[in-house]
Amino acid sequence: MTDLEQKIVAMDLWHLALPVVSRRDHGIGAVEGSCEIVVVRLRAEGGAEGWGEASCWSVFTGSPEASMAALDRYLRPVVLGRSVADRGRIMQTAAHAIAHCTEAKAALDTALLDLTGQIAGLPVWALLGGRVRDRIPLSCSIANPDFAQDLDLMARLRDDGIGIIKLKTGFSDHAFDIMRLERVSTEFAGFSVRVDYNQGLTVDEAPARVRDVAGFAPDFIEQPVRADQHAMMARLRAMTDVPLLADESVFGPEDMMRAVQGGICDGVSIKIMKSGGLTRAQDVARMAGINGLTAYGGDMFEAGLAHLAGTHMIAATPEITLGCEFYQASYYLSEDILEEPFAVENGQVVVPDGPGLGNRPDPDKLGHFEISTRVAA
Ligand SMILES: [Mg+2]
Repeated sequence: MTDLEQKIVAMDLWHLALPVVSRRDHGIGAVEGSCEIVVVRLRAEGGAEGWGEASCWSVFTGSPEASMAALDRYLRPVVLGRSVADRGRIMQTAAHAIAHCTEAKAALDTALLDLTGQIAGLPVWALLGGRVRDRIPLSCSIANPDFAQDLDLMARLRDDGIGIIKLKTGFSDHAFDIMRLERVSTEFAGFSVRVDYNQGLTVDEAPARVRDVAGFAPDFIEQPVRADQHAMMARLRAMTDVPLLADESVFGPEDMMRAVQGGICDGVSIKIMKSGGLTRAQDVARMAGINGLTAYGGDMFEAGLAHLAGTHMIAATPEITLGCEFYQASYYLSEDILEEPFAVENGQVVVPDGPGLGNRPDPDKLGHFEISTRVAA
């Protein structure tokens, strides 16, 4: 019997509210006060632990209450008593144990990979195909309705060596978006700039506004219209030379197939919280690459634990070449939950090389930020 044949004997859950430093607006809604996440801890009979995070946003992927219930009631029986070695079998069963709830499945997949890596003495990226990069360029999103605060943030980002920003647009009026693009292009010309509408435009206004924004030649324009408006996505893509990225339109590999068939995008924002796990995120990236599309490492409103999972996934996924947006732990949460700070150096996320995720939550912080807890075998 290998060490990986030991059974998983406990699943513990924490629903946390993590205070944030400012309001953020997006085409689909605002974040203010705090972000809510669910943290899962698996324990094997030998005592090893694996951690995962479900990062939820009710207007995008789902609610923390749904993630908590999915893990506690529907996924717990799928996991307890199974061998650590059976991650593939567990995730296959989990996919059918409850519909949707992709953040809960991402948290479970992360915890299983962390646990496997802890026991095997291997980083998660080694379990996902091996490392193709040691650093990932970091993008920080600009989404404060008070642009003066974002000007201060951009100055700080520049001082920290961050080279990429993503301007969130479509939550106020078009003039506000154009004014901010002009200010960024003149006062922060060193930044590589991306634009993300988060579905904020109607089909009536999208063509003219996207054409205006394309005039600033951003790296890409992300999800201008609603997720299901594939015909308009395809029309906007044909209209401009600036690459069009799909985010809300593509959750998992099944959506990626439809996106390719519909010709709706030049690239895709890949998030483990949308795909429902790290391997499924890699599946989306491979489908994008095979079809000549680019891929970006997106995220939800995450703490450092989910950032780590995304970092290991991108480290082992050659197709994700457009960097990542794992900025919340460093620039948006009042305080992150990890024992050691999520590592960013000179504008690049550092890929960890320790066993499993290479870092773990601080138990005191879990207690400090908890709304509710289910700690039981
Ligand atoms: Mg987006």
